Order: sequence, then structure tokens, then C-alpha cells
Amino acid sequence: MRPEDILLPTPSGVCCKAGNFHIDPTRPVARALITHGHSDHARAGHGAVLATQETLDFMRLRYGENFAGRTQAIAYGETVTLDGVRVTFHPAGHMLGSAQIAVEANGLRIVASGDYKNVADPTCASFELVPCDVFITEATFGLPVFRHGSADAEIEKLLHSVALFPERAHLVGAYSLGKAQRLIALLRKAGYGAPIYLHGAMEKITRYYADRMDLGELRLVTGARKGELGGAVAIAPPTALTDLWSRRFPEPVTAFASGWMRVRARARQRGIELPLVISDHADWDDLTATIAATGASEVWVTHGQEDALVHWCTTRGLRARPLDIVGYGDEGEEEPDERPQSQP
Ligand SMILES: [Zn+2]
Ligand SMILES: [Zn+2]
Repeated sequence: MRPEDILLPTPSGVCCKAGNFHIDPTRPVARALITHGHSDHARAGHGAVLATQETLDFMRLRYGENFAGRTQAIAYGETVTLDGVRVTFHPAGHMLGSAQIAVEANGLRIVASGDYKNVADPTCASFELVPCDVFITEATFGLPVFRHGSADAEIEKLLHSVALFPERAHLVGAYSLGKAQRLIALLRKAGYGAPIYLHGAMEKITRYYADRMDLGELRLVTGARKGELGGAVAIAPPTALTDLWSRRFPEPVTAFASGWMRVRARARQRGIELPLVISDHADWDDLTATIAATGASEVWVTHGQEDALVHWCTTRGLRARPLDIVGYGDEGEEEPDERPQSQP
């Protein structure tokens, strides 16, 4: 039996005919298995959704109660059988609730990773290595130039700047779901105890996190007096850094937390004074090390910089192919304006 007889790549996501489901489909389907809450993977309008409780909650927070016909929560390590196909969810380390989905039939195991990272993140369960025959990987940072380094060291850089400019606000751009909350947790882990200010767009999601872990005192920027913001750390969606909203900050130091900040030209282009290389995606070393560690003889690459990773696999004697799925990579670190110039 070929892997394609179990999971068939289509332009709108991989499809399991035997189990009658799609994984992270980009169009409405009868039954969807969702890896995580980012909107390019988790869309509204499916007949039924199987996902972790957190992913279901994020979809509900974002799309409202009726985001799917039916929902079913699945825990990490739990297996369900869908029309004879075994499906198990494992932690992906990408954000709260994120999962890799292992699909097994006829003695063959295919793992769809969704987005993932292999470094510790205080806001979510750590990536779990799942041995498999076919590994479906992302490639957001699939170029050798991308090496993320230590997130803790980047947080130290931010705290150093806060100490150096006690009268200036530090305005940090971070994606609203996952990255913003990880930043707050990393700041707390580093011993930063002052209130952290939030842009209103990330309030609901951050409160959801704060109900589940200690994020310290959080305040909304709206309602804060100008004097109060001097010396403070505020977190906002990347687009807010340049809009009118940012004018309320006294002489802000503008920072941006993203894997893309490894490329200095991008930071300059966006007018970022303090680039912070903090990513929720695997870097080149982690992508290649993970592929090797799964023991997979075949690799499918969903989105990002597919070519270099496919080439790397081929040089290792692995079968590899890009999946050309349309519609992934338009949220978070994969926002269109975050992508390399060469891509549409
Ligand atoms: Zn994602
Ligand atoms: Zn993605």
C-alpha cells in the first residue's frame, strides 16, 4: 500500500478517503481534524471538527459558538478510530493545544506535524517525537540562514534595553495568538514583575491563557495614562506598531519578536529598533534534525520554503515532495507581509 492510499494531498489540505476526513482543510469539509488554532489551519464551517480542547476553544473564541456542526475534543496520546483508520494526537510544541496528528492504517504510520518547534515554551506542552514512515512537515523557516538561537537571550536583550531607557516605553510587536502569551511568560520567567500592557485585540485570548497559567499582572493600554506607559513593556499585534494607536507611547523603543528578525534588512525595513529573534516554528537545524529523528523514509512539505528542505531530503536518500497546499501561511509568523519578497 502506498502512503497516498491513506492520505491524499489535495490543494485544500491532505485528505483521508478511507477515514473520511481532512487535516487542516482550507475549505469547508464534512469532517476536519485540526492541528492548532491559527486561522490558516483552523477555519470555520466544517461539518465536524476533531481537535484538542484548547484548539476548539480558540476556534470558538474567534469564530463564535457555531463555528462547526459538531465538535469532539481529543487529548494528547488518545487514539480514535475513524472508519478503520487510527488517529492519535501528539504535542507539537508550537502553541497551546497544538498537535501533530498520527494517522495509521495497514501497518503504515503518517504523521502530519502542523506547525511545530522543538524548543521549550512555558505556554505549551513540548514537541513529542513520533517515529513514522511518512512525515508531513512545515518549512516556514526552511533555509539554512534561519537559526533562531535562544529565546531567553533575546528576552535578556529586551530587559537590558528596558533598564537602559527607563523613561521610554517598549512596544513589542508579537502575533496575538501564541507568540504574545509566550513573550509574557518568558518575561515572567526572567523575573520581570511589573505590569505588562496589552493591545485590546489580544485581550480575550490572553485572558484565556491567564486562566491556565500565571502571566502576572496584565493591563490594557486603553485607559492607561501617558505617564504610566513610560518605562513600561507593551505588547501589540505587528500591524499596530506603525498605526495611530502607537502614538500614545512616549518615545517608544519599537521591538518585534519573530523568526524573521534574523534577517537584519527586514527589521530595518519595518523600522524596528530592537529585533528579537523569537520564533514558534522550527529553524533549519530543528527541521532537518526532526526529519532525521522520525526515521521517515518519505517527507511531504506543506508550506514555507519548501524547495531547500525537499532538496536536503533528497540528498539524504529520502523521498520528498512539496504539497503545494494553497492557503497556509497567512497568519502569525507566516503573515503575507512577513514572507520573503520572492513570494506572492
Ligand atoms: Zn501556526
Ligand atoms: Zn502554519
